[in-house]
Amino acid sequence: MDERKMYTGDWTCCDCSAKIDSLPFEPRDPSTLACRDCHKKSKPARSTAERVRKIYCGDWKCCECSAPIDELPFKPMDPETIACRECHQKNNG
Ligand SMILES: [Zn+2]
Ligand SMILES: [Zn+2]
Repeated sequence: MDERKMYTGDWTCCDCSAKIDSLPFEPRDPSTLACRDCHKKSKPARSTAERVRKIYCGDWKCCECSAPIDELPFKPMDPETIACRECHQKNNG
């Protein structure tokens, strides 16, 4: 059983003027209270695509060692100059 303490009162949302009759905390300043909906809205929405890395699939070959390359984290502008991970590392020291 969830016996969370709720404070009851007769407040209004400072944003949309919705009625608020219970809160999980005691409001220090009732004039700045926001209802659950506005509270959610005020938080910056996190983009769900934030961490999704796009992978491009193809049928390329390393221009140096001819190793097959089937996916890249970017869309190759010039498939003739693609280097595999190993050659790429070599080139970058
Ligand atoms: Zn509201
Ligand atoms: Zn290579």
